[in-house]
Amino acid sequence: MPAEQMQFRAEVSRLLDIVVHSLYSDKEVFLRELISNASDACDKLRYAGITQPELLGDDPDFEITVSIDKKGRTITVADNGIGMTRDELVENLGTIARSGTSAFLKQLEEAKKGDINQIGQFGVGFYAAFMVAQAVEVRSRKAGSDEAWCWESDGRGEFTVEEDSKKTRGTEIVIYLKQGEDEFLDAERLRAIVAKYSDHIAIPVILNGEDKPANRAGALWLRNKNDITTDQYREFYHHVAHAFDDAALTLHWRAEGVIEYTGLLFVPGTKPYDLFDPKRQHGVKLYVKRVFITDHADGLVPPWLRFLRGVIDSEDLPLNVSREMLQNNPMVAKIRQGVTKRVLGDLGKFAADDAAGYEKFWDNFGAVLKEGLYEDATYRDDIAKIARFKSTHGDGVTSLADYVSRMKPGQESIFYICGESAEKLARNPHIEGFKAKGVEVLLLTDQVDDFWPSVLETFDGKELKSATRAGDEFGKIAGDKDGDDKKDDAKPAPEGMADLVALVKLTLGDEVKDVRVSDRLTSSAVCLTADEGDLDLHLERFLKQHNQIRTASKRILELNPKHALIAQMADRAKQAGASDNLKDFAWLLLDQARLLDGDTLSDPVAFSERLGAIMARAV
Ligand code: ADP
Ligand code: MG
Repeated sequence: MPAEQMQFRAEVSRLLDIVVHSLYSDKEVFLRELISNASDACDKLRYAGITQPELLGDDPDFEITVSIDKKGRTITVADNGIGMTRDELVENLGTIARSGTSAFLKQLEEAKKGDINQIGQFGVGFYAAFMVAQAVEVRSRKAGSDEAWCWESDGRGEFTVEEDSKKTRGTEIVIYLKQGEDEFLDAERLRAIVAKYSDHIAIPVILNGEDKPANRAGALWLRNKNDITTDQYREFYHHVAHAFDDAALTLHWRAEGVIEYTGLLFVPGTKPYDLFDPKRQHGVKLYVKRVFITDHADGLVPPWLRFLRGVIDSEDLPLNVSREMLQNNPMVAKIRQGVTKRVLGDLGKFAADDAAGYEKFWDNFGAVLKEGLYEDATYRDDIAKIARFKSTHGDGVTSLADYVSRMKPGQESIFYICGESAEKLARNPHIEGFKAKGVEVLLLTDQVDDFWPSVLETFDGKELKSATRAGDEFGKIAGDKDGDDKKDDAKPAPEGMADLVALVKLTLGDEVKDVRVSDRLTSSAVCLTADEGDLDLHLERFLKQHNQIRTASKRILELNPKHALIAQMADRAKQAGASDNLKDFAWLLLDQARLLDGDTLSDPVAFSERLGAIMARAV
């Protein structure tokens, strides 16, 4: 049968085009990616062999070999792992859609000098081979199969597949080196690369038929902590996490007692590109007695710790545990408890020991951790203790405990406001009065912030309250002695305020729930607030956008008596009663308050007609 020719998926072609032409200097990472794939393939077969020992046949010991042919100018990376069928070759190496491909392309294109080193992180590590290869041949026989196939490509748009004569199980990848890449024909060069990137791979890597493996080939997590260097931890982290940064936190411990397991977990130092992809799962691999079981163990780690990377190796789970059996498994639930406590405890220490480092961590993963505040009643209080927030107090972030320590006499609640950005929130009319009194407000800008305050309810006995709904409490708080409001309070409210309030109420009718004289505005003329029992404004807008609710609840329009415009309007209302002018003003004030809240106008045509009329009168 002749070789069948096929096209790469379009985005794979684009990716290959960049990789093939890359002038990237760390081309050696191609070997790391191929060895990493070979190791994954061995792990997969070891797991399958538990229930189907016949797949292992008379070749039960896993091995990865790297061999050099100086004459032919090739490097061959071979494994006796699970192998690939014809269809798997076609899909895995050319046609299947991987979410990482376009994400990686985007990153490469955005950061002009994109870092190809990160290729593995995006699940497209195999293609790194084309940095050094003018052609790549992948010969593979799936374990248990009676046919072998060969995939071949020069990385330029097309690849071919045809039947192959490979007799042994597993995969053999032949790299035909480009001109100028002869450094990789040097055994010592390859040995150094294996030592650098693949020392922790648990499968022996044999170089050029030597007797001794070029790596240590033991499960790193089982070694004594004192015998592991920082570099070894780092390389292992890069391998399990497909990451290339330095971990913010490394946790390595052995749990003994009722349940026994070893954990080697990492908190990444940077935010992965798909942190909020709903399909994204945690990145903790489950091993049972050193045998890899799965990297999608449901329930091994709570969803709000999904940024964790690493390995849990259990002594208690049965080796033949199926992935399905892991769901709702009580042993897994116990491990999850242990892991969660450990991680929260260590994050607490991290926060105490290195405030700046912790702030960076929080910036990366705080939004994920806060999901736990909302959805995990068991750990809610523990998370609240290590949570950090931007606030009107200073530039950095604050803990809730620190917030509480700064509360004013008469202040019973922890105030927060939700919105798009801290900068915008800091200028929001709702918190003018708070700022004037020196009352701190948390500035919350993550999506989940709309939800957790109402379920956390209190911290240290203090209620969490939206600043858009402060109600009576605000008036009772003793502000800073020399805050602006004291001066202003001395000024009596303009006489006509009651007339103005009545007039505005009558004019706006059902559009608002009520009209009140504000005690918290200092510089803005008006704002809209939510009544005590009503939904927070920002949350309501979110729910409306997502079609969770249809109708918005009515708002209270607050008028600032200290504002020159309002004072003059009050005067006019007292002297002359309702005029067309004042009525137009009332509507415009309402629309202005809506715009300030980031809302849209319910009737933009009426708005511009009124504005036009007033401008015509004033011009
Ligand atoms: P990733 O390893 O992140 O999945 P790669 O681009 O490195 O992405 O590899 C793509 C896929 O090709 C792998 O997921 C695997 O299914 C398959 N593959 C690559 N190398 C091998 C191998 N040596 N043995 C078996 N399958 C392999
Ligand atoms: Mg890979």
